[in-house]
Amino acid sequence: MTHDAPTEDLQELARRISEGCTECRSCQFRCAFLNEHGAPKALADRFLTTGTGRVVAFECSLCGLCAAVCPMGLPLKAFFLAMRRAAMDAGRVSLIPYRPRLNYERFGASRVMELFQIPPGADTVFFPGCTFPGNHPETARALLDHLREHVPDLGLVLSCCFKTSHDLGRREYFERRFGRLKAKLKAMGVKTVLTACPNCFGVFAQYGDGLAVRTVYDVLAENPPNGGTALRGTAIVHTPCPFRVHGQIQERIRLMVADTGLEPQKTRQDGSLSPCCGEGGGAGLLRPEFAAAWGEKTAKKAAGNVVVTSCAGCVNFLSQHVRTVHLLDLIFHPARTMAGSLPRPRGLATYLHRLLFKWRAVFNLR
Ligand code: SF4
Ligand code: SF4
Repeated sequence: MTHDAPTEDLQELARRISEGCTECRSCQFRCAFLNEHGAPKALADRFLTTGTGRVVAFECSLCGLCAAVCPMGLPLKAFFLAMRRAAMDAGRVSLIPYRPRLNYERFGASRVMELFQIPPGADTVFFPGCTFPGNHPETARALLDHLREHVPDLGLVLSCCFKTSHDLGRREYFERRFGRLKAKLKAMGVKTVLTACPNCFGVFAQYGDGLAVRTVYDVLAENPPNGGTALRGTAIVHTPCPFRVHGQIQERIRLMVADTGLEPQKTRQDGSLSPCCGEGGGAGLLRPEFAAAWGEKTAKKAAGNVVVTSCAGCVNFLSQHVRTVHLLDLIFHPARTMAGSLPRPRGLATYLHRLLFKWRAVFNLR
């Protein structure tokens, strides 16, 4: 398995940032975390001289915006992830604030929730992830039906990609659990994973080791669903962090928003420069004011427009600040999505809907 920032590389990453950062403040200007703690050079120097700063990396959302704007091309996200891993390896991190998210992750890969429904000879599976089927149940069902119509012998896999543990720096746990999932998929003949969640896409793209990953938007672009209501109005497109480095996916999504009839508005924070929604890396559990500041940036740039995104987590977080809808809801239920009448379960109801989604697939219910 490859790593984007092995703990043993932390010294080297810190040295590169210490030597390369010109303290131009381009990244600080966009980030509440860096605004409080100083330019990356200051953080790297502090780590190199005193070894401290590892725990503070848990207040960074690992959104990657700093790396996207850095004129020196510095590996900033990798540095903060390596600091998290080092702190976790040293036993300096309490998992108590993260328990609800880790329990959510564990449930997603539990016997109750997991499903490997792969027809003989199938080499492509739909991997809807944890949040999307629970928060967007009607759309998840419509999407599965549509994919089955257009992808021959499509399999369905319900499990978790373990992104929460990955981002918390729980490297050994992530490698063991995601490694087991990956090995099982390969043993069952899977070659391509279709994801609805940008976080799952990011994990499979980085750690899939031979498993190809595509977004469901690839299939939808080739086989658009028929006959939704053509919408009118303008919208802002929010890029989820895992798509920040995928310009082609950003463009595809922008075109699909336009296909609904909504007119995407250009802003100075489009595409790779979208701020974090506030959920990333569990940073908001320690510093809710940072998460709020990031979410408010999107609300400000929306300037009264609806925000469209392709991540269920982003919908949940940004909705605290600005009207936000999921692109898949817009594609499959345009009028009800814009009218706000599509059910959006919350809390325990999301677990029930995930189970219903599984049972419907197991018993082949329509
Ligand atoms: S929160 Fe995002 S922009 Fe700020 S330091 Fe972390 S990765 Fe960079
Ligand atoms: S954008 Fe790059 S060079 Fe400028 S302060 Fe941030 S890390 Fe340093």
